[in-house]
Amino acid sequence: MQTIKEYVKVKKQELKEEINNRSNSIYMHIFQVGHVPASDRYVRNKIKDLEEVGIHCSLINVHEDDPEEFLISFIEAANRNQEAGYLVQLPLPKHMDEKKIMKLVAPEKDIDGFNPASITVPATPLGIYKYLKDMNYDFKGKNAVVIGRSDIVGRPMAKLLLDESMNVTVIHSKTSEQDKANYIKNADLIVVATGHINTLTKDYEYKDSAVVFDVGINFNEEGKLVGDCEPNLPVAFQSPVPGGVGLLTRLAVIYNVLELEKKYNTL
Ligand code: NAP
Repeated sequence: MQTIKEYVKVKKQELKEEINNRSNSIYMHIFQVGHVPASDRYVRNKIKDLEEVGIHCSLINVHEDDPEEFLISFIEAANRNQEAGYLVQLPLPKHMDEKKIMKLVAPEKDIDGFNPASITVPATPLGIYKYLKDMNYDFKGKNAVVIGRSDIVGRPMAKLLLDESMNVTVIHSKTSEQDKANYIKNADLIVVATGHINTLTKDYEYKDSAVVFDVGINFNEEGKLVGDCEPNLPVAFQSPVPGGVGLLTRLAVIYNVLELEKKYNTL
C-alpha cells in the first residue's frame, strides 16, 4: 500500500485545486471546550490542514467550567449562521452530555458527522474507508474485526465495512481474552480504537496478510504519543502512530466540508 503520508499529500493537493477553482470561499468553526492534550494537538493540525487547502477555519474556545447551556447557546447561533459549518471537538467535560450536544448540531452544518441524522460520516472511519477504497482493497467476504464500539469510531467503522460485504465482528471491553485472540487470529482487517496502550501486541497470532489500522491516541509514561497497538506487529500493514489514522481523519474532515457544501450550499 502507498504510505498514508504520501497518499494524504496527493489527496490534499487535489482538494486544494478543487477548492481554489470555486467561485465562493468556504468558512467553518471549531468549538473546543477546555484542553485535553490529544484534542489540542488534533485541533491544531486540523486547522493547519483546512487552511492549507483554502478552507477558512476559526477556533472558538469555551472554558471547561462553563455550563452546558453556554455551549448550547453557541451551537444554536452556529445553526442559524448561513455562512459556515462547524464541529464540536470531543471529548467534552463530564458535566456536558456529548450525545445530547451532538444531536443539536444541525445536519447541514455537521462537519464531524456525529449527529445520527446527518449525511456525513464520522471522519475517522470515513478516512480509513476511503484510503482502503483508493488502495483498491478487496473487502468482499473478508473478515474484519473492529475493537471498540464508540459512536464516533467503532460503530460507524463496522457499518462501512459491513456495507462492503465484509464479515464484521465488533469486540469491546467485555469480550473475553480467549475470544479476542480467536477473532484476531482469523482477521484480514483489524481496526483498533480503544484508547488503551497495547490492546494488540506481538503475543497474539495474526494472518501474515492482515491489515491493521491503529486509531488510538495515547501518551505513554515518557509523554510520547503512541497508539493502541504495539509497533511492528507481524502483519502485512500496520498504520503508524503518529502519521497514520490521524492524517486520514484530518483528510476526511475536508471531504465532509465539501460534501455538506455540495449538498446544502450553506457553508
Ligand atoms: P471510547 O469512546 O472511549 O471507546 C472505546 C471503546 O473501546 C469502547 O467501546 C470500549 O468498550 C472499548 N475498549 C476499551 N478497552 C478495551 C479493551 N481492552 N479491549 C477491547 N475493547 C476495549 O473511544 P473512541 O472515541 O472510540 O476513541 C478510541 C481511541 O481512538 C482514543 O485513543 C481516541 O483518542 C482515539 N481517536 C483517534 C482519532 C484519530 O484521528 N486518530 C479519532 C478519534 C479517536 P466498552 O464499550 O465495553 O466500554
